[in-house]
Amino acid sequence: MKSETLSKKELDKFKNLLTTKYNALLEELRYRESSSIMENQRDIGGEISSYANHPAEAATDYANLSMNLNLAERETKYLTQLEEALDRIKQGTFGVCKICKKVIPLERLEVVPTTTKCVDCKNEEKSKEGNTAQHI
Ligand SMILES: [Zn+2]
Repeated sequence: MKSETLSKKELDKFKNLLTTKYNALLEELRYRESSSIMENQRDIGGEISSYANHPAEAATDYANLSMNLNLAERETKYLTQLEEALDRIKQGTFGVCKICKKVIPLERLEVVPTTTKCVDCKNEEKSKEGNTAQHI
């Protein structure tokens, strides 16, 4: 029998860690969603006329809005990653590099528990990306 995976005890530890992160993030996203709805309702109630005279302010607002959307998008993505990591724990593939199939070192998993690749494979991928995405 191959033992190229994490022990039950280690898996349990990561399961707890991921579940905690997942719930905290979910809570925060929900909270923000409900508070942004309240803010929108307040805007509809008044204040709109002053914006009409200041297009620059409206533009700043729009920039802030799209920044928040990007943030929410990133967080939603992270939420999915946490979900997938929990799924991998269930399936027993957690902590195994999906490219070279080696066990990812614990120290790395502790820092990035949602990772699916070991440092070597990640770096290789990054250097490929670097070649195509130069000069921003
Ligand atoms: Zn690898």
